[in-house]
Amino acid sequence: MKKRLREHLTLLFVALALLIAITFNAVAHTGEQVFFVYIIDVVVIVVCGIRLFKWLRKEVTEPMDDLRESIKAVANGNFDRILDRDSNDEIGEVSQEFENLRIKIRDNVETRNKLDRENRELIGNISHDLKTPITAIKGYAEGILDGVVTTPEQQKKYITTIYNKADDMARLIDELTYYTKIDTNKIPYKFEKVSPVEFFYDCVEDVGLDLETKGIIFTHEQHASPNDIVIADVEQLAKVVNNIVNNAVKYMDKIPGRIRISLLDEGDFVKFEIEDNGKGMEASELPRIFDRFYRTDASRNSGTGGSGIGLSISKKIIEDHGGKIWASSKVGKGSKFTFILRKYQEAELSDE
Ligand code: ADP
Repeated sequence: MKKRLREHLTLLFVALALLIAITFNAVAHTGEQVFFVYIIDVVVIVVCGIRLFKWLRKEVTEPMDDLRESIKAVANGNFDRILDRDSNDEIGEVSQEFENLRIKIRDNVETRNKLDRENRELIGNISHDLKTPITAIKGYAEGILDGVVTTPEQQKKYITTIYNKADDMARLIDELTYYTKIDTNKIPYKFEKVSPVEFFYDCVEDVGLDLETKGIIFTHEQHASPNDIVIADVEQLAKVVNNIVNNAVKYMDKIPGRIRISLLDEGDFVKFEIEDNGKGMEASELPRIFDRFYRTDASRNSGTGGSGIGLSISKKIIEDHGGKIWASSKVGKGSKFTFILRKYQEAELSDE
C-alpha cells in the first residue's frame, strides 16, 4: 500500500492543486468563464473520486475481506484456507505473516493430533497387554483358591504361570518407563571404548541359551577384526540386540524357528545382522516399524502383545551412537535387522 497509495494520493493532490490554480486564475481574469471552470472541476473531482474508490476497493477492501475470512476460518478450526496475496505492500506483508502463522498453527495442530492418536493407541495397547496377563493371573489364582489344584505339581505349574505373567507385566511397565526416559533424553549414556567382537560374543552367550530353551535353532557368524573398537554404551547396545532377538522370537511362526546373528566388517563400520525365519513383514510396513507405537496389522491382530515402542527405542539408541539401523523382510520368509556402528579411529580423535 505504501508505494501505491502514495502514488494515488500524490496524483489526487496534483489534480486538486491544478484545479484550484485554474479556478483562481479564471475567477481573477475572466469572470464569465467561471461556470465552465466549475464544470471541469466537478468532472475532474468525480473522475479522481471514482478512481480512488476503485483502487481502495481492489487494494484495501477486498484483501481485508479476504484476510477477515481467513482469520474466521482459522478461528473455526479450518487451517486449510490459503491466503494467496503476495503484493508488495503492507496488506501483502500482513497477509504473508498471517499465512506463516496459519501454517505454523496447522503444523502444531497436526503434530498434536498425531500425538493424541498415538497416545490413545498406546493406552489401548497397554490396556490390552496388561489385561491379557491379568486375566490369566486371576484365572490361575481362582483355580488355586477354588481347590481345583490338588497335586503339588499342579500347584507349582499354576504358581509358575502366575509368576511368568506378572513378569510380562513388569517388563511392559519397565519398557514404558524406559521409553519415556529415552524420549526425553534422560538416559545418561556411559560411552566407552568397546570391542565389537567381545560384545558380539557376550550377546551370543546371553541370548543363545535362552533361544535353545525355546527350541529355536541359533547360529552365529563373526567376521570382524578383534582389534576393532567402537565407542558405545554396552548396556544400551545390548538392549537393542535383545529387543530385536525378542521380536524374532515373538513373531516366529515356523518350526523349527531359526535365528542367526552375524558381525561383519564393512570398512569404516562394523555391521550387526540379526536374521529370523519368522512371519516377516510387508515391504510397505518396513519404513514405519521404527516409528513409536507402530505395530504391523498382522502383529496387531495376532494377540502377540507388544507396545510398538521396542524398535523406536532401538533406533534412538543406535542413532545416539552415531549409527544407523534398518530392516528388510519378506512375508512368510523372515526378517533381517541390521545396524552399523562407525569404528573408532585413534588418529581421527587425536586430530580434533
Ligand atoms: P512390539 O512391541 O509391537 O513388538 P516393536 O517396536 O518392537 O514393537 O516392533 C514394531 C512392529 O514391527 C511389531 O509390532 C511387528 O509388527 C514388527 N516386527 C518387529 N520385528 C519383527 C520380526 N522379527 N518379524 C516380524 N515382524 C516384526
